[in-house]
Amino acid sequence: MPAQVTRAITASEPAELTATERDRILAKSALFDPPNPALPDGRRDLVGMNRDELGAELAAIGEAPFRVKQLWHWIYHQGVTDFERMSSIAKPLQRKLAEWFIIGRPDAAMVQTSTDQTRKFLFRFRDGQEAETVYIPDPVEDRGAVCISSQIGCTLSCRFCHTGTQTLVRNLGAPEIVGQFMAVRDSYGEWPSPKGETPRLLSTIVLMGMGEPLYNYANVARAMRIVMDGEGIGLSRRRITLSTSGVVPMMDRCGEELGLNLAVSLHAVTDDLRDELVPLNRKYPIKELIAACRRYPGSSNARRITFEYVMLKGVNDSEAEAHELVRLIAGLPAKVNLIPFNPWPGSHYEPSSRSALDRFAAIVNDAGFSAPVRTPRGRDILAACGQLRTETRRGRGARVLTT
Ligand code: SAH
Ligand code: SF4
Repeated sequence: MPAQVTRAITASEPAELTATERDRILAKSALFDPPNPALPDGRRDLVGMNRDELGAELAAIGEAPFRVKQLWHWIYHQGVTDFERMSSIAKPLQRKLAEWFIIGRPDAAMVQTSTDQTRKFLFRFRDGQEAETVYIPDPVEDRGAVCISSQIGCTLSCRFCHTGTQTLVRNLGAPEIVGQFMAVRDSYGEWPSPKGETPRLLSTIVLMGMGEPLYNYANVARAMRIVMDGEGIGLSRRRITLSTSGVVPMMDRCGEELGLNLAVSLHAVTDDLRDELVPLNRKYPIKELIAACRRYPGSSNARRITFEYVMLKGVNDSEAEAHELVRLIAGLPAKVNLIPFNPWPGSHYEPSSRSALDRFAAIVNDAGFSAPVRTPRGRDILAACGQLRTETRRGRGARVLTT
C-alpha cells in the first residue's frame, strides 16, 4: 500500500484520502436500508420522495409535472394526509391519487409526557420496527426542538449510551425520518393555520436520537433536503443540528452538501479514554476528528461547532481534562455542551457532582468558550440524551447487524 494512504489525515489533505473510506461507509450503510416502502396493496407513500421522484410517480399515472408543486405544498406545507382535503385539486384527481398513493405517517405506538413537558413518541414503522422521537419544548419561549432518530439501534456501542446496547437493526428511510417530524407536528397541530400563521413550536431539529446519522448519510441527507425545501416545511439549515460520534470522512461530505450545524460527541480528551468511551475513536482518533472540525465549512463565530461532553463522575470530569479540552479546541469557533450523565437501567456510570460540573464549566468559560451545562430533560420518561432504546422486533424484514 502506498505510504500516503496510511498516513494520518491532516487538515490540508482531506479529499482523496477519505474518498475510499467514504465509499466503503456508504456501501455498508446501504446494506441496512429499510424494506420496500410500498404498502401490501401496492400503493406508495409520497412522503419522503423528492420532487423528481414525485414527478416520475405522477408521470407514471399520466399526470402533468405542474402537479408536483401543488402536491408538495399540500403534503409538506399544509401537512394534509388526506387527498380529499386538497382543495386546489379536482375531485376525480383526488380519487385517482388516493387509489395509487398514500401520505403516510409512522404510527405512534406510545406517547409519554414528562413532568417538564418533554414528550417522547414511540413510532412504529410499516415493518413493525420502532424508534423514539422526543419533543423538547423551550422552558420559556414558544418554541422547541424535535430530536429525531436516524437508525433503529446503533453499531457504535458507546459505553454510556442506552441506544448503544441495542445492535443495529436497520437504517431509517427518508420517509421515516421526515415522518417523525411530521407526526410530531400533527400531535401539536403545528401546521399553518388557514390564515397562514407559521408554526413556531417545532422550530428546530436535532439529529440526536437513536443511531449515528453519518452511518445513514444517504437517507438522512434526503430527509433533510425535504425538510429544508422552502416551499414545504422550510426549516433553514441553521435550524438543524446533526450530532455525530465522529465519523470523520462523512463529516466532510455533510458539511459540503448539507451545511447543517454540527455537534460532535467528544466526551474525552485523550485517545486512551476516548477509545474506551466512544470505541469509534480507534478508527478516527481525536486529532483527525478535530482536524475535520477545523475543515467544517462555515464554522465561524456566528456558526459554532458544538462539542458535546457527557460528564461522568471520576472518569472524564477533572480540572486537568477541562484544560486539555480548551487546548484541543483552541482557535475553533466552538461551544461546549456539558451534559450531565443520564442514567438508564443497567448503566454503570454516575453523573458528575455539581461542583465538578461548575469547576469544569468555569475553566472552559474562562478560555472564552461558552460552556452551558445542559439541563436534563424528560429523565422521568427515559427521554433524555442517551436514554432512548426500543425493543428489536424479530420477524419478516428484521435483520440485526453485529459488529
Ligand atoms: N450518535 C450520535 C447522535 C445521538 S446521541 C452521537 O453520538 O453524537 C446524542 C448525544 O447524547 C451524544 O452526544 C451522546 O454522546 C449523548 N449521550 C449518550 N448517552 C448519554 C447519556 N447516558 N447521558 C448523557 N448523554 C448521553
Ligand atoms: Fe450510537 Fe451516539 Fe449512542 Fe454512541 S452515543 S452508541 S454513536 S447513539
